[in-house]
Amino acid sequence: MTTTWVFSEESEGHAPASALELLTKARSFGDVAVFHIGAGSDEAFAELGDHGATSVYHLTTDEHLPAAAAAAAFATLLEEHAAELVLFGMGNTDRDVAGRLSARIDRPVLANMVDVSLDGGTVRATSEILGGVQAVVTEVTAPAPALVIVRPKAFPAEPAGGAVPPVTAVAMPDVGRSGSAVVTESHVEASEGPDLEAASIVVSGGRGVGGQDKWSVIEGLASELDAAVGATRAVIDAGWVPARLQVGQTGKTIKPDVYIAAGVSGAMQHLVGMKDSGTIIAINKDPDAPIFSVADLGIVGDLHQVVPKLTEALQAR
Ligand SMILES: Cc1cc2nc3c(=O)[nH]c(=O)nc-3n(C[C@H](O)[C@H](O)[C@H](O)COP(=O)(O)OP(=O)(O)OC[C@H]3O[C@@H](n4cnc5c(N)ncnc54)[C@H](O)[C@@H]3O)c2cc1C
Repeated sequence: MTTTWVFSEESEGHAPASALELLTKARSFGDVAVFHIGAGSDEAFAELGDHGATSVYHLTTDEHLPAAAAAAAFATLLEEHAAELVLFGMGNTDRDVAGRLSARIDRPVLANMVDVSLDGGTVRATSEILGGVQAVVTEVTAPAPALVIVRPKAFPAEPAGGAVPPVTAVAMPDVGRSGSAVVTESHVEASEGPDLEAASIVVSGGRGVGGQDKWSVIEGLASELDAAVGATRAVIDAGWVPARLQVGQTGKTIKPDVYIAAGVSGAMQHLVGMKDSGTIIAINKDPDAPIFSVADLGIVGDLHQVVPKLTEALQAR
C-alpha cells in the first residue's frame, strides 16, 4: 500500500519546492504517490522521482481554476488507493484543494504544521504556538487518510537519486458549476536581486526605517551583501514595498544563513517567519525590543547611523 500522498502543482515547468520538501520527509514513511496538477513537464516528473516519488498521478486542468476539479479527482484516487497520510504545502491551490478534499471525504485537515510523523499507522503532526516557543503535537484519531498542511521549509528538499516514476494520466472530472471558473490572465511579478526564499542572506527593514524615502538604506546594505530584501507587515501595510517581501506568519517563512533586521520590533507574527535563520543580527534603538530575544548579535542604536556605516565598511573591503 502506498502510505503517503503528496500534492504538487507545477510551476513554470518545475515541481514546486513544497512538494520536494514534503517528498523528502514522506519517503521515510514508505512508498509515496504524488498527485500532480498542471502542464506535466518531463522535468517536473523527474524532480518528483529524484526526491522520492514512487508513482505520479497527473491531472491537466488547462485553463480551469484547478482546485474544484483537483479535489474531486484526488478524492476518487484516495478511494481507489488506500492511504494513511496526504500532505499539502501552504500554496493557495494546496490549501484550496485540501479544504475541498476534506469536505468530499469527510476528514479533518491539520493546517500550519511544522513536522509530521507516521508511526504504525498513527499520524502525529506538530504545530508551533506562542511565536514558536511552544510545540503542540496533535495525534490524528479520525479514520485514514489524515490530511496535513505543512509550512514551507519545515523539511529540507534533498534529492534521493530516484528514477522517473510511472506517470498515470487522470481524467478531468465533471464538477458542474463549481468547476466553471477559468483563469483569464496570470503574470509573474517582476523582481530584482536574489529570491527572498532562496537567499542565504536577507536584510529586512521594519517601521523603524521611518518612510519609503529612507528605504534605500536597507537596499544599499542588501546590495553590498548580495542579499535579498525583506520587510515587516507594518512596512507592507504602509505601502513602502510590495507584499511579496513580507516575512512572517502571513508572509514568507525563510531560513537564510544570516538574517539582518533593522528597525524591526520582533512581533511574534514576524518572528515565526524568520526565527530559524542561521545567525540573526538585530539593529534597534530600543534595548528592550523583542527582536533581541532571538538575535545572536544585537546592536542598540539608530539604524540610520549603524546601517550606512556597515555598508561603507563592506564597500571598503
Ligand atoms: C494576524 C496577524 C498577522 C500578522 N502577520 C505578520 C507578518 O507576517 N509579518 C510581520 O512582520 N508582521 C505581521 N503582523 C504584524 C505584527 O504584529 C507587527 O505589527 C509588525 O511585525 C510590526 O512591524 P515593525 O516591527 O516594522 O514595526 P514596529 O512594531 O512599530 O517596530 C518598529 C521598531 O523600530 C524601532 N526603531 C524605530 N526607529 C528606529 C531607528 N531609527 N533605528 C533603529 N530602530 C528603530 C523601534 O524601537 C521598534 O522596535 C501580523 C499581525 C496580525 C494581527
